[in-house]
Amino acid sequence: MYPKQKARLGLAALAHRTKAGASQAAGSHCKGAKAQNQTKPAKIAFIQSRLLSTGGESDQWKLQGKRTLFTHNFVLPKGYSSISIDPTPMKEVRIGKSTLRGSRLAFGCWRIAGTWEARKVNAKARESGLKAILAAYETGYTLFDLADIYCDGISEELFGLALKQSKSLKKSAVIATKCGIRIPEAGETYRYDLSANYIIQSCENSLQRLGVDCLDIYQLHRPDWLMDPNEVAKAFAKLKKAGKVRHFGISNFKPSQVSLLQSALKDSLVVNQIEISLLQLASFEDGTLDQCQQHKITPMAWSPLAGGYLGDGKSNVLPSQEKYKPIKIRRRLDTLARELGTSRSAIALAWLLKHPSGIIPIIGTTKPSRIRELAEADQIELSHEQWYTLLTSALKEDLP
Ligand code: NAP
Repeated sequence: MYPKQKARLGLAALAHRTKAGASQAAGSHCKGAKAQNQTKPAKIAFIQSRLLSTGGESDQWKLQGKRTLFTHNFVLPKGYSSISIDPTPMKEVRIGKSTLRGSRLAFGCWRIAGTWEARKVNAKARESGLKAILAAYETGYTLFDLADIYCDGISEELFGLALKQSKSLKKSAVIATKCGIRIPEAGETYRYDLSANYIIQSCENSLQRLGVDCLDIYQLHRPDWLMDPNEVAKAFAKLKKAGKVRHFGISNFKPSQVSLLQSALKDSLVVNQIEISLLQLASFEDGTLDQCQQHKITPMAWSPLAGGYLGDGKSNVLPSQEKYKPIKIRRRLDTLARELGTSRSAIALAWLLKHPSGIIPIIGTTKPSRIRELAEADQIELSHEQWYTLLTSALKEDLP
């Protein structure tokens, strides 16, 4: 996926409002959940102070035992007790053709450790990651996106800790994670692998890191050039029969690749996760969103703020995003934000939300204040004309 980044940052760098009370139980790991009505901002501050009071790298935070690939076995600080959180309900949507329902905006866990390098993740970074997950849950996000490679498995482990801390999060969370990008061991080539064995083994590892019995959505991270759809189908059937995965999805698949894979599957793919933003419009024109709309596959937009360009500025972005030129579109977003009394980034998300395919933007900020601010996006209703005003600013050429 990100070979240049890999070279720059090392292997670990590969990792990258419904009416009140209407949130619904998510996965089989989480039966009977109901979101509550009121936000209690003080709660997260309390959690933070407790976690921070552990004072750095306590024994409990250190790696337990021998490190196996992707498994660090973090544990909660000693004496930590679970805390109840009453989330503010966010609008929910049905995911794909399934009965699963998730928040209108998803929370992405790629950046939660504050670094892509596993060796740099210290106790403070883990605390910030937990804080971000809990802030997202408190704000009403129930759909969480992860991947085995995010910070070498640490994102999944942190999410697993958050599930231990909050029983209601465990009940409400719709957990979507991914496999298929192999982090090379010594001497190996960086590659994609959608062989049945690799999918099944990766799933077992993710379940272990997350500390759950079943994943709500298991996504293939990138299309393997050597993908055999029948082999993928075998792996999916095995995981489903074993009760380890409820639904499957794909990520970064082109329409022909989706059709090829779907032709071998019994169940419908429920999501296709792709990069979509005002700075990345390919999916509007290459048939991806048309296919999603036609077959009721929920499109999930990664980097909906183009990695920060459509917010207050980029931080770590993928090599493919380095070339983005945000000045013109930012100016237009700012004008509209002033008119509507909101922020540039909320408008950029509202633009995605208006598309009839039902795009779910996966927000990637790690800052609790931004996590809360962005949740306002689903209350912004852009007019047809406003939508086109933004589109035409984003396009390189005028509409014919
Ligand atoms: P994003 O929302 O486009 O970008 C988030 C980045 O923008 C953060 O670094 C954030 O920094 C920064 N930012 C700057 N100003 C901001 C503002 N005003 N509001 C919000 N953020 C602002 O999304 P992303 O992190 O690139 O991707 C989101 C999620 O998509 C990931 O977490 C992951 O789950 C998924 N993803 C999937 C793939 C795939 O191949 N399937 C690839 C990439 C990502 P701060 O943290 O400092 O706020």
